[in-house]
Amino acid sequence: MTATRSQQSDLELDLFIDGAFRKASSHDRSQIHNPATGAHVGSAAKGTADDMRLAVETAAKAFDSGVWSDLDALDRGHILHAIGDALKARLPEFAELETRVTGRPIREMTAQMSRLPEWFYYFGGIARGMEGHVKPFKGGHLNYTQFSPLGVVGLITSWNHPLLIFLKKLAPALAAGNAVVAKPAEIAPLTPLLFAELATQAGLPAGILNIVTGEGSVVGPAMCSAPRMARIDLTGGTETGRRVAGMAAQRLIPATMELGGKAPVLVFDDTPLEEAVNGAAFAGFIASGQTCVAGTRFIVQDTIYEAFIEKLAAKVAGFKIGDPLDRATEMGPVISRKQMETTLDYIESGKSEGARLVTGGARAAMSGDLADGYYVEPTIFADVNPSHRIVREEIFGPVICVMPFTDEKHALQLANDHEFGLGASVWTRNVMRAHRVVKNLNAGIVWINDHHKNDPASIWGGFGSSGYGKENGWNALHEYSKEQNVVVRLTDDFPDWYGGGDRYS
Ligand code: NDP
Repeated sequence: MTATRSQQSDLELDLFIDGAFRKASSHDRSQIHNPATGAHVGSAAKGTADDMRLAVETAAKAFDSGVWSDLDALDRGHILHAIGDALKARLPEFAELETRVTGRPIREMTAQMSRLPEWFYYFGGIARGMEGHVKPFKGGHLNYTQFSPLGVVGLITSWNHPLLIFLKKLAPALAAGNAVVAKPAEIAPLTPLLFAELATQAGLPAGILNIVTGEGSVVGPAMCSAPRMARIDLTGGTETGRRVAGMAAQRLIPATMELGGKAPVLVFDDTPLEEAVNGAAFAGFIASGQTCVAGTRFIVQDTIYEAFIEKLAAKVAGFKIGDPLDRATEMGPVISRKQMETTLDYIESGKSEGARLVTGGARAAMSGDLADGYYVEPTIFADVNPSHRIVREEIFGPVICVMPFTDEKHALQLANDHEFGLGASVWTRNVMRAHRVVKNLNAGIVWINDHHKNDPASIWGGFGSSGYGKENGWNALHEYSKEQNVVVRLTDDFPDWYGGGDRYS
């Protein structure tokens, strides 16, 4: 049975298949609560493996019909622009809902959401520039390549930036002409579901974007094993990445893995201290530290080490922690009790392993409606040892580690001593040193004198345990396309290979 959202109770959302909301076959639901207050926000259907199979078959039918894949790239681009415009018109609503689901302050969500339409404008624009190549070929042949869509592609996304992460995969997937089945995180599915409805209303043909909510361990394997699934693109933790990459490998389908990180932030002593501290606060505590590129290992020149720690601690102690819907709030809760307990466990491990606790170190005491919220004090550990768990493992909470370095070589050695290779930043006024250091950093995304910045044209992806493949830019469009090589004989005289004689003697 299908329904439009006007027939659904507010934010009690079902699966989105074939252009409409549709009940899951299980009738079970995931309840979504505001992590700041515990208030009920809405619910989403718990899809089953059967639901996932139906979604993939629906997407395959829509793809095969040519309604999207056969459209001229220019016309697909027009629809992507219309989707960008429709999203732009509803940004405040999406920002508020995402704040209620994730607990991230409304000022952060408003800033992040304001950029999202750009992914549709950018990929809507470059889709028509997907040019093949003409290559040399010995023997008077024309030799060229051309691109076509893969078919049905699967997106599996995390809860920390529910809409951003979904849309930065979706825009290139659609621009390339694919049909999509998406599986958002179970605890943050509402904005992706509402977006699917918005995209359909803006002109995306039914069946080209389908969303199956539910538990990753149930619907994820069904997605990866569906015979028509042609590619998997995951953002998630490294363990999930290993499982999903394994399933994709079994099927011999390509995959992109955007996984965990533990970003080093290298601070040289020629950076003005105030700028270094403001940069560190921004790098480490945006989203309460729940981002894959959050600065978590601060590697600070020994000449400014103590001054940096003292000033950063004062800055952090002044954060306005409160109701995420209040525009004055600078820091909200983490997303769930589980995430809070994990973060507090790591804090205890830092204390017991002998790191120096500079500030924070406990659940934040809140009052009134926020008393039961999942708030964790912004926490700084100094004098950490590279073998400490808080240095080695991704915490995904507002906890940072600071350690001193003596010279450039030492800074690089500390930065690269890690399994992850996702984000990093380098702070210095010395342009030669900046580029020299960056070249030797094992990180897929590096900022110089900045952090966190992202753009649809700017490639994004990690090395090592942070995964493989690239989002954004031409790379993403290529990853969502298949390139075919075509060799054309241009002469009339096709030789008779079996006509006797030896042509090559
Ligand atoms: P998880 O790995 O727990 O989940 C990610 C997604 O995978 C969810 O939709 C989840 O579903 C799904 N999933 C879980 N198990 C399976 C399975 N067996 N098969 C298929 N899908 C499955 O990550 P989180 O949601 O907790 O997100 C945090 C992680 O994401 C962090 O490690 C972070 O670093 C990383 N991340 C990486 C980014 C990057 O660009 N590299 C950006 C942002 C985050 P369900 O929700 O139901 O469990």
